[in-house]
Order: sequence, then structure tokens, then C-alpha cells
Amino acid sequence: MNDTTPRITGIHHVTAIASDPQRNIDFYAGLLGLRQVKTTVNFDDPSAYHLYYGDEHGTPGSIVTFFYWPGPEARGRVGSGQATALVFSAPPASLPWWQERLERHGVKVERKSRFGEELLAFADPDAIPVEIVAVAEDSRSGWTGAGIPADYTLRGLHTAELTVANAAPTEALLSIEMQFRLVKREGNRARFEAGPGGSGRYADVIEDTSGKRGSGGSGTIHHIAWSVPDDATELAKQSELQTSGYQVSPVMDRDYFHSIYYRERGGILFEIATATPGFAVDEPAESLGAALKLPKQFEAHRARIEELLPALQPAKSFT
Ligand code: ZN
Repeated sequence: MNDTTPRITGIHHVTAIASDPQRNIDFYAGLLGLRQVKTTVNFDDPSAYHLYYGDEHGTPGSIVTFFYWPGPEARGRVGSGQATALVFSAPPASLPWWQERLERHGVKVERKSRFGEELLAFADPDAIPVEIVAVAEDSRSGWTGAGIPADYTLRGLHTAELTVANAAPTEALLSIEMQFRLVKREGNRARFEAGPGGSGRYADVIEDTSGKRGSGGSGTIHHIAWSVPDDATELAKQSELQTSGYQVSPVMDRDYFHSIYYRERGGILFEIATATPGFAVDEPAESLGAALKLPKQFEAHRARIEELLPALQPAKSFT
């Protein structure tokens, strides 16, 4: 390893599964005030939405995305073998404001602290665990277009919470092939950081020996994507991971980034995604998310797809 070794720079996005797109928009773009930066469909199932939220530009590290699996039979269970929370960074002074806002809108909030950081823990409408962590050192700025005061906006993802039954193989992957550094340990949680470190570049490995395995479905996180600066770095990581015995997918063109996928030994699906080309590749930066964008291969079927998709309204406004 030397200075020219290709690096993962931190979190790119987290993708979770919800049941109802409108309720999901109202919560993430309305109540939490993220920007809906892309409205598209699932590349593997164009009859279902895939929505992206983030900061103004959908910068890697700020992005959370959702697939939608309706109905009670599609419910999953949160547990080991999954990323188990969406963890956002916010300024320390904003925590009481967020607590008051969430509680006023019927969200039950718990206050906790971890690694010396204060945080609010709650659940989204599909019971996906969400946290807002008070982070003093974070130069990123959040989206103010949804009416959240600039000093209080969620600035992006803080850490990726990875829950596994046996931490050792996951920790080895992070520290050897993925070149994260161990920062600290607290109880059954170990915090690692990538690149220059700091908020948005952390991964927390939690060893859960309770035997409570997760199962995929609505109300759970589907995968976590790590960010690399360019295609060359992605190809280098693909070959390094393959050399270490991981089954890695071919590069897939996701229109807004290029991706490879592999499963870590604890069962969590990992993706590595490029920081480019980004969300302004198929619509103007000032109106990101406003129109339904389809991958090129589905454009010819736009009329039929639009007929199948439920109509969506802009996020409900919360005061
Ligand atoms: Zn992804």
C-alpha cells in the first residue's frame, strides 16, 4: 500500500425499502427537510419508484434512496446481516429543535449518547431506525429549500451502522481491503473511518450475538454504498476484492453513478459507487427531482410506466 493506492473516501448512499412513496416523501423531504434530488424507477422493476434524497446537489455522503414494496407480506425485519439505521449529522444546537419538531408531529424520540456524541433516535413511518447525531465538526451544509433553518439542516449521513453476528470478518474487510482505520470501540460497537475521516466517512460495526437475524423487506435497509472518486478507482477496488475472494458484480451504469456490488461476510450487501456523473446529468440542477426521469432503456415505454406508477405530490409542508 502506498499513496497511490485507490481509496474509498466514505459513504456514497444508503438504500432502504419503504412501503408507500408518498408517505416516505412527506417524512424525508417534508419533516426531515432533505431535498428530493431524483424521481426515477427501480432499474430492475420500472413499475416501482426509486426516489433519492440528499443535500442541494445530492452530494455523495448525503444521499438516502428508497425502493417501495407495498403490503404487509413485503415487510422485513431489522437485525444482523444488515445496515440497521439511517444516521444523519446535524449541528449540536439543533438537537432540541429537532426533538421538539419530531415530537410535535407525533414521532417518539429517544435521547442517547455514543462515542461522546448526543443523538436523537426515532423511527420513520416504516419503522426504519433513524438517528440525528449532534456533530460539532462537519463543514457540510444541508438543504434549506424545505424551510429548515440553515443552522439546523441535516448535513448528510454521519456513519453507516453495520450489524453482524460476528464482527471479525467485517472488521477485517473494512481495515484490509477497504482501507478504513479503526477510530475507537465502545461496548459491542467499533467505529472505523475512511479517507480523511470525519462525519460522512465513518462505518460502525456492531456485533449482535442475540441471534436476531434481519430479513429483507419494507422497513429495512437494503444496502450501503461507499464512494470512490472515479471509474479507475472503482475498477481497481473490483480487482482487489476479487483477488481476496469476494464475488464482485460487473460495473453497472446507474445513470447518476457507476456501481459494483459484493456481499461482506456478515451478510450485508455493499456497493461501491463513483462520485460522478451526479444527478444533474439528465435535468437542471435547480429543478432536481421535479420530473420523472427514466433510464434510457425504459424511455420508449414512458406512457405505460407512468400509467402504472401512483401519482406523487410534493412533500407535505410541516411547520
Ligand atoms: Zn445503491
